[in-house]
Amino acid sequence: MKTKRKVRVVLVPYPFQGHITPMLQLGTILHSKGFSITIAHTNFNSPLPSIHPQFTFLPLPDKLDGFDTSFYNILNAVSVMNTNCEAPFEEYLVGMMEEEELLACVIYDSIMTFVDVVALRLGIPTMVLRTTTAAYMHSHILMFRLLAHKLLPLPDESQLHATIPKAYPLRFKDLPLDATKEIPKAVLDFIHSYTDIRSSSGVIWNTVDKLDSWPLQQLQRNSPAVPFFPIGPLHKMAPTSTTSLIEEDTNCMSWLDRKAPNSVVYVSLGSLATIDEKELIEMARGLAKSEQPFLWVVRPSLLSGTDDAMGSLPEDFKEVIGDRGLVVKWAPQKKVLAHPAVGGFFTHCGWNSSLESICEGVPLICRPCFADQTVNARYITHVWKIGIELEINNNNSNKNNCLEKRIERAVRTLMVSEQGKEMKKRAIEMKVEVERSMEIGGSSCQSLDHLVEFIISLSR
Ligand code: UDP
Repeated sequence: MKTKRKVRVVLVPYPFQGHITPMLQLGTILHSKGFSITIAHTNFNSPLPSIHPQFTFLPLPDKLDGFDTSFYNILNAVSVMNTNCEAPFEEYLVGMMEEEELLACVIYDSIMTFVDVVALRLGIPTMVLRTTTAAYMHSHILMFRLLAHKLLPLPDESQLHATIPKAYPLRFKDLPLDATKEIPKAVLDFIHSYTDIRSSSGVIWNTVDKLDSWPLQQLQRNSPAVPFFPIGPLHKMAPTSTTSLIEEDTNCMSWLDRKAPNSVVYVSLGSLATIDEKELIEMARGLAKSEQPFLWVVRPSLLSGTDDAMGSLPEDFKEVIGDRGLVVKWAPQKKVLAHPAVGGFFTHCGWNSSLESICEGVPLICRPCFADQTVNARYITHVWKIGIELEINNNNSNKNNCLEKRIERAVRTLMVSEQGKEMKKRAIEMKVEVERSMEIGGSSCQSLDHLVEFIISLSR
C-alpha cells in the first residue's frame, strides 16, 4: 500500500455463521494488503476476538439477549438489531474520525441497514459485501418483475416446476420466496432493503466471475456507476483461522484418514436449516442403506423444536452403521472437504458450503431449504452440472420412491455410478478454473488489486 498513513476499514457482519465467515475472511485479505481492520459486531453471535488478534473488535449492544432469533422471527430480530446498534455505532465512528489513522470506508452486510444511515450522516463512504451469488441477487429482480406483471402468486402448485420464461435455469420453485403464496408487505420491505445497495460506493462479491458472469453483468448494468469487485472464493484468497461459532469436532479427521480415497459422502445442512423428525430418520435410513461410508453433521438444532437432534436418531443406528458412518455435532468443514477420502457432499447448498465444495472438486447432492439455497442448487445441477437434486417434497407414496429410497439412490449415484464419475470430473475442472481466477492475471486476483486501489482512493 503506497499511502504514508495507515488506512483503517471498518467491517460490519450480519451475525450468522454464513455471513460472519466471509466478512472475517475479507478482513484477513484486506489486513494482508496493509489495512487496519476493525470489526463492529453485535453481542449476539459475537466472533471470538482471541482467534483474530490482528483485528480490533467493537461490540455493539444489540439488546437481543433473550430475544427469539430463530429463522421464523428473523425480521423482528433484524429490526431490533438495526434500531439498537445505530447510536453506539455512530459513537465508535465519531471516535475513529478523530484518530491519526485515515478511515477509508465501512464495508457491511446490507441487512445491517443502520450502517448506511450512520455513515451517510457522518460522510463516510460505505461498500456492501455480498455473501451470496449474483445469480441469487438477480433472482430477486425476476421475482419483482413477476410480481409487477401480476404473474405471482401462482394460481396453484402445478406450475412450480415450470421454468420461468427467459430465466433459465430457474423454475418458479427456485425463487427466493414461495411462488404460490401472497408475500406480506413486511417481507417485501425486508427484501427491498437487503437487495438495495443504497449509497454504497462499491459492491464486493464472494463469487467468481467464471461461475457467475451473466448475473454479474445483468446487475452491473442496473448500477453502472457502482464498481463491482468479484473477489471470491474468499476462503482461498487468504486462508484464515477458524471462523466457527460452534466448537469443531476434529476427531473426524483421523476417522477420515482410515477411509479409502473418494469413498466418503460428507453430509451437512449448514448452520441454520432445520428438518423434521421424519426427514431425519429417513436420512439415517437412506445413508445406512446406501452402503457408502459417510460423515454426518447432526447439529443439535438441526431438528425443528429441539436442541438435541442426535437424540432422535433411530436407536439401532450406531449398531447398523458400525465404523462405516460417523455422526458429529459440528465438523471442521473446509478441512473435511479438502480430505482425499471425501468424494461427495450432501448439502443444503448454502453459498459458503457450495463454494467450499467447488474449491475442492467435490460433487454434490443438493437438498436446498431456503434463501439462496434453491438458486445455488439449480446452478449446481443445471449450469455447472456438478451435482444432483434430491426432491424432498415428493408425495409419491410408492415405497420405491419414498425419501429414504431417494436418498439411498442419490448417494449411490454420486459415489459409485458413471454419472457420478462425470460430475466428479466436471467438479475437478471447475476447481481448476477457480484456482486460475486467483492466480496473477486471473479475474479474482485482478479484482482484488482494483479493490485495494479503490479503498485507498476512498480514504483521500
Ligand atoms: N460449517 C462448519 N462445520 C459444519 C457445518 C458447517 O464449519 O459442521 C461451516 C461451513 O464451512 C460454512 C458455514 O458453516 O462456511 C455454513 O455457511 P453456508 O453459507 O454454507 O450455510 P448457512 O449456515 O449460512 O445456511
